[in-house]
Amino acid sequence: MSATKYIFVTGGVASSLGKGIIASSLAKLLQGRGYSVTNQKLDPYLNVDPGTLNPYEHGECYVTDDGAETDLDLGHYERFTNIPTSQANNVTTGRIYKNVINKERKGDYLGKTVQIIPHITDEIKRNVKLLGTKNKFDFVITEIGGTVGDIESLPYIETVRQLKWEMGNDALVIHLTLVPYLAASGELKTKPTQHSVKSLLETGVQPDVLVLRTEHELSSDIRRKVALFCNVDPRAVIQSIDVETIYDVPLKMREEKLDAIVLEKLGLSSEGEPELKEWTKFLNRHKNPKSEVTIGLVGKYVELKDAYKSIAESFIHAGATNECKVNLKWIHSEKLTDANYENELKDLKGILVAPGFGHRGMEGKILAVKYARENNVPFLGICLGMQVAVIEYARNVLKLEDADSLEMNPQTDNPVINLMEEQKNVTEKGGTMRLGAYDCQLKEGSNCAKAYSRPEISERHRHRYEFNNDYLEKFEAAGLKATGFNLETGLVEVVEIEDHKWFVGVQFHPEYKSTVINPHPLFVEFVKVAKSNN
Ligand code: GLN
Repeated sequence: MSATKYIFVTGGVASSLGKGIIASSLAKLLQGRGYSVTNQKLDPYLNVDPGTLNPYEHGECYVTDDGAETDLDLGHYERFTNIPTSQANNVTTGRIYKNVINKERKGDYLGKTVQIIPHITDEIKRNVKLLGTKNKFDFVITEIGGTVGDIESLPYIETVRQLKWEMGNDALVIHLTLVPYLAASGELKTKPTQHSVKSLLETGVQPDVLVLRTEHELSSDIRRKVALFCNVDPRAVIQSIDVETIYDVPLKMREEKLDAIVLEKLGLSSEGEPELKEWTKFLNRHKNPKSEVTIGLVGKYVELKDAYKSIAESFIHAGATNECKVNLKWIHSEKLTDANYENELKDLKGILVAPGFGHRGMEGKILAVKYARENNVPFLGICLGMQVAVIEYARNVLKLEDADSLEMNPQTDNPVINLMEEQKNVTEKGGTMRLGAYDCQLKEGSNCAKAYSRPEISERHRHRYEFNNDYLEKFEAAGLKATGFNLETGLVEVVEIEDHKWFVGVQFHPEYKSTVINPHPLFVEFVKVAKSNN
């Protein structure tokens, strides 16, 4: 294909309609036709990245190989397409303005008045085109966060208008809206969609394709009506009906011929069908499990499922591989107490202690680790979860009663989890942790090495604290072994308990690398042992 094609996905009527899933599904379908595709997310908030956002605000912070702290939609993109994303795939208004203001300070604008149009819009354009020109993808699918009509989205929509004008046949706009069902009158209503398209038209953007989220089948009459009011080809009015799992959406979109209409509108051949064999195989296994297992996810944000999105999805991938339905029991770490923890955890076949920051919920996490360790329950600790495992072992096995992480207790005499040397002078918050992919060498014969079937791995990170190597000998002598290291720095990446069914703590985040096509080996192994623990 000669020129990169740019597809923009906007949203109207309501937020949380699933633009990310539609964008990922379209990427999957185009990929299934042999094209190279990347997804990008433009976020209209002023934070430079979501790294500084509390998960209650914006769900999980997803981390890429190159160490970008990004929106959780990038996780969907990777899980669907199996193609790594990077900093370039997530741009916020904060980053755009920062770049423009930095250029202004350097004198790059030669005395001109710096304005939203053209300077901000040009910077947005540069960031969109970068993925096409630099990485030469056939398709760049850019999702605009927020809802059309929001003040914050305006510069992005204006950029889409300009790019459509400049690129002609190489750009296309998909607008996602909601067709609500009014139970009282038993009717599906198209007016919100009409209004949403109208507000898009007011900004000069004519959508080429409409994807309508709905709880009920849309009749051809409704589609024709929407097409007529919105100046859209009736074949380009696509229904996106509620489904059992997000992983059904690519198949639904294939049925609806979303990929074919997109190709046609972009002047490409729409003959044939995208190949989704592996995907379908995964879905069949996911939907027809042969067994079930209950695993506890212990964390402090469990009331907001999006805070642990990648972990939950990793269990779906690993469950399918094991032909086993994983029932996640979400356990609030603040609610685990000495009095109730045994009762709360007694039915679990596996326990995962989640990543996190700060002191809240720590004691509950320690109790969860203690329970897993003492009762031989398969355990996976991720990042803070690994650090908690170390603290628990120090307190209850090494009998260092005040053992702690310096993050939780800067005064402790036994900082078994230490602040990393390079973090000691860091004062700024955004993008300053140990972030992104680092190599790790696994010890032969360890549970980890067995799970991966290889000794060298690379995993993504997001932390400031680390295992304190001054205590390594003591831990090892008492049975908690370091089984994975970063060879360059000596940083302990993995700990395991020898005399235990399966007890693994990892400083990295395996959940960021699990995809439908490549379920993560640690999750696959964890589910396998939990299943056999039934
Ligand atoms: N708070 C811990 C640290 O900074 C763990 C971070 C995490 O779980 N992502 O090291």
